[in-house]
Amino acid sequence: MKNKDLARLRHELRSVDSDLIAILARRDRLVSKIGMLKKRLNFAVIDPAVEKVAIDSFVASAAKAGIDESYAKRLISLVIQRSVETQTRGRRRRVTGRDSMLKQLSEMMLKAERKGRRLIRLDIGEPRFRTPSAVIREAKRYLDRTPMMLYGSSAGLPALLDAIAQRLNRQYGTKLGRSNLLVFPGGRFAIFASILTTLSSLDRVAICQPAWPAYESCVAFAGGRTLAVPTRLEDHWDIDFTALEETLRLGPKMIVLNSPNNPTGKVLSSKMFDEIMELARKYHTVVLSDEVYATYSSVPVQSVLEHPDTESIYVNSFSKEFSMTGWRVAYAVAHEERIARMRKIVETSLTSVPEVIQRAALAALKDTSADAVTGRSRIRKRLNMACEELRREGFEFHPPEGGFYVFPRMRRKGIDAEKFAKYLFDKYAVGVLPGTVFGEYPHFLRLAITEPEAAVRTGIRRIVKAMNEW
Ligand code: PMP
Repeated sequence: MKNKDLARLRHELRSVDSDLIAILARRDRLVSKIGMLKKRLNFAVIDPAVEKVAIDSFVASAAKAGIDESYAKRLISLVIQRSVETQTRGRRRRVTGRDSMLKQLSEMMLKAERKGRRLIRLDIGEPRFRTPSAVIREAKRYLDRTPMMLYGSSAGLPALLDAIAQRLNRQYGTKLGRSNLLVFPGGRFAIFASILTTLSSLDRVAICQPAWPAYESCVAFAGGRTLAVPTRLEDHWDIDFTALEETLRLGPKMIVLNSPNNPTGKVLSSKMFDEIMELARKYHTVVLSDEVYATYSSVPVQSVLEHPDTESIYVNSFSKEFSMTGWRVAYAVAHEERIARMRKIVETSLTSVPEVIQRAALAALKDTSADAVTGRSRIRKRLNMACEELRREGFEFHPPEGGFYVFPRMRRKGIDAEKFAKYLFDKYAVGVLPGTVFGEYPHFLRLAITEPEAAVRTGIRRIVKAMNEW
């Protein structure tokens, strides 16, 4: 081709680009008009159902024009993001996300404690027990006999992977091997990697609420959209299958389950679990099953690993089961291709989880002494006692079957949980989390029952006193 031809084609291309800009500007003007109308009608900026129609129709037109789906999706995602930015400008937004609210509250409590204020921490989701002695012994032994602490494999320590696989295979009859497992520095990171490797921009994730807010913030970080599937105390926090199926029709890539649930303590019945799995298969939705509270349960807990036909990611952590929150060690189980993708995240961001931590985790798994079991049964006792107190004080709640939280509704509905939690902290030195951290639950409080019995009892009494003053 002669230089002259090239120059002509480039000129034509610049003219197409300028047409493109004119079209985009026209789109911007339309988006602004729609935004103003939505504001007047008090409609939300993002409607995932409308967004889905827009994406599907764009991809279909693109296919007709010979443009491939992946390119089309990237283009429409950019354009939609621009629309959301335009329409959000000038609107009153929630200043902090739920997850940030949780972190801000925890930081505030931690700071007060460091300054010497004695608090009753009913806000914090960690069993406050000593690390099992076998774990400490192994960590010390390892450090004493290891003169050089070196990098390890990004997949995790082979001995730990084997021990986890053996345990799960024994428990669930699975045939997991090392390639189905990955060690992470904490369950939060495992969930983050699971979500990040599953979603593309604007992909949807169904989350049954109330829910731990980290799921939502991981979805937002990945540029995805949360489709909340709310559940209600009146329904004993059971999932409404009609609502769930309606949500799955919007084509989410993933559904997040957490049984036993933080904050409600709900354990999904076998029947309900089976039905969710069936729906997930029907709609080709990946199930992310966060099972970190599985060992804190007074009823049998189903695992996603008992459903090999369902595409899933299983997450568990040493944090809760072995009272090892600060050690930061957890694991995920999935199909090996999925694990390989998640491993890229570990490789890119971390290289490896420190070996001493993984040795400690291995010791926890092998520990046959009673440390961890005793901790769990002590928490169950405290939980039962807390439920009795709350019942006596007239709170409405679903008695938790698992986990170590209670999620009562405040006795008077008019009370704003966020303001109340702040008041309780300021005046009564009691930490709780407002229900709004977990979804649209402004009249609920989450109480973590991990403090000793006397402190829990005092904490509840102070809550009642504060409520009477309100
Ligand atoms: N899942 C749930 C439901 C949780 O509540 C938490 C911690 N609060 C985690 C996962 C993560 O725990 P970790 O990062 O300590 O493993």
